Amino acid sequence: MVEESTWLIEARNLTRVYGGDGAEIRALDGVSMKVAPGELVSVMGPSGSGKSTLLNLIGALDQPTDGEVFVRGQNLAHLANVDSFRAHTVGFIFQLHNLLPTLTARENVEVPMVGYRISRDRRRRAEEILSLVSLADRMDHLPNQLSGGQRQRVAVARALANNPPLVLADEPTGNLDTTAGRDLMRLLKSLNESQGTTFVVVTHDPAVARRTNRVLVMADGKIVREDLIGSPLEEDLKMWRHSELGEILLSGDDNLQERLELSPDQMTVLRRLLESADGGD
Ligand code: ADP
Ligand code: MG
Repeated sequence: MVEESTWLIEARNLTRVYGGDGAEIRALDGVSMKVAPGELVSVMGPSGSGKSTLLNLIGALDQPTDGEVFVRGQNLAHLANVDSFRAHTVGFIFQLHNLLPTLTARENVEVPMVGYRISRDRRRRAEEILSLVSLADRMDHLPNQLSGGQRQRVAVARALANNPPLVLADEPTGNLDTTAGRDLMRLLKSLNESQGTTFVVVTHDPAVARRTNRVLVMADGKIVREDLIGSPLEEDLKMWRHSELGEILLSGDDNLQERLELSPDQMTVLRRLLESADGGD
């Protein structure tokens, strides 16, 4: 038996029904899942499959019709102080950054700390965290003076302001172009590694999911599949193995070795890498 507290998140048989009297929508239908501290997990699935509903229940923004969620062993149905939970245990990042338009980047990051830290400490922490997301030179800009990617990085800094163990992100790259989306995922990954923050990232985008360690796939209010993702190198090799070049390499064509000007040893290493990358998919 694993102790509850081993898991950062444990959801048991979560159900969320909207509406009633014949017009019921079962947004979540018996979802159970667990996330360990330090994980970077993504949740994929078509629109309407229940991803946001699940995230909102984990973040105590909504309550289940049935079932239970524990975060750090705390049953969210019995939270003594919901405000404190929202301020200190979870940070949220949304698709639309939700920054306050009349506040600078630094002031936006200070907002979640109001009431918890004195002004001087808020300012110091905001500057520290904005530097961490590479916005040291943009602290006094208003949101409309920043690019979409920069605004989203301010939203990341705001989510991390009180140093929560868990950050929930709902389609954080949904409004970004490919490059800005990839940069944002790099940032989340590096914060995951350097700060130990656990991330649950809802996304439509397989390229985003590929940058996480585990993918939960939802359909019709249920988790229907779970995939473990290898390291980026493994994933690239897996793809490469099935490419024309990968297949030629594996077939042992010696002319190719000459053409690529590889030594026999290098050729052997390449073949081994490609063979070991066969994830069976
Ligand atoms: P996703 O984030 O995967 O697109 P959602 O969790 O937002 O899906 O929604 C799941 C289902 O619940 C959808 O059918 C949606 O229309 C419905 N739903 C979500 N929020 C509400 C609400 N506040 N009232 C009624 N129905 C809702
Ligand atoms: Mg959604």
